[in-house]
Amino acid sequence: MNLYSSKEMTLLLERHDFFFKKNLGQNFLMNEATALRIATAARETVTEDGPVLALEIGPGAGSLTLQLSKLFDRVHALEIDPHLLGVLEESLKDCENVTVENCDALQFDYQSLLTRYPNHHITVCSNLPYYITSEVIMLLLESGIPLTGITVLIQKEACTRFTAAPATPDYGAISAATAYRATAKKLFQVGPGNFIPRPKVDSAVLRLIPRKEKAVQVENEALFFKIIRAAFSARRKTLLNALTGGGIGEKERLEALLTECEIDPARRGETLSLDEFARIANILNKTEES
Ligand code: SAM
Repeated sequence: MNLYSSKEMTLLLERHDFFFKKNLGQNFLMNEATALRIATAARETVTEDGPVLALEIGPGAGSLTLQLSKLFDRVHALEIDPHLLGVLEESLKDCENVTVENCDALQFDYQSLLTRYPNHHITVCSNLPYYITSEVIMLLLESGIPLTGITVLIQKEACTRFTAAPATPDYGAISAATAYRATAKKLFQVGPGNFIPRPKVDSAVLRLIPRKEKAVQVENEALFFKIIRAAFSARRKTLLNALTGGGIGEKERLEALLTECEIDPARRGETLSLDEFARIANILNKTEES
């Protein structure tokens, strides 16, 4: 069976009474070269010897899974839609190294992979459903499992936000939170013609390499992220007003604190580097502790 032929894919889906669900972000990759290119990019994140597990979120009908199966020792794929299980059984019948699990990737116990696949390096490779992109990436980065990389096909605009640098229009809380835990790079763009059904927007492949050490030293991560969220919640306000409005503290106290950090309170939140956010969080944490 050729999974990349629209005709054969349509027949496969019909055999299993499958209908596309927009609310699950179901746009299937139909270009073999693109699928292989994404799987190869994921393989490149593995630099050490030893067996490697590719974790895929949302295998769909198996277009990317098939390529992962060729390049990795094992593939574990999490699919929420039970109507795709029969489809995957048929499309991946020759791929003995693939395990499909019917579950919600947002509820999955990622730590369990360490005992299920002992001694394996783990990398993530997915054509992610757009409605959980940020949530699932943050979940993976915070999961505590050592990942060689996260290689994901996502909407182009989302990719730009993940990779945006401070003081650029797309820099936001998600860019800062990602940069704290990983290095981020856009690899290449993928046009709407690569999918069925055809999405309205362009997509791009994002590569994240989790950092061994966080980008900056932060004493209280919850406070650090609260400050970042507040700073970006009101982009047109000054940093001082955004932090005050975001419940970080009283205006006079915050003004003195920003001055102590050598950060102009009149700056906009989106101009701050991670290091500056960390300085504010660490001084604020110290004053709250004493
Ligand atoms: N990997 C396939 C491909 O490239 O053709 C399908 C990608 S499609 C963009 C996203 C897939 O994620 C769909 O199969 C969808 O059912 C599945 N999905 C959506 N939400 C999910 C969730 N919360 N957990 C696991 N899978 C999910």
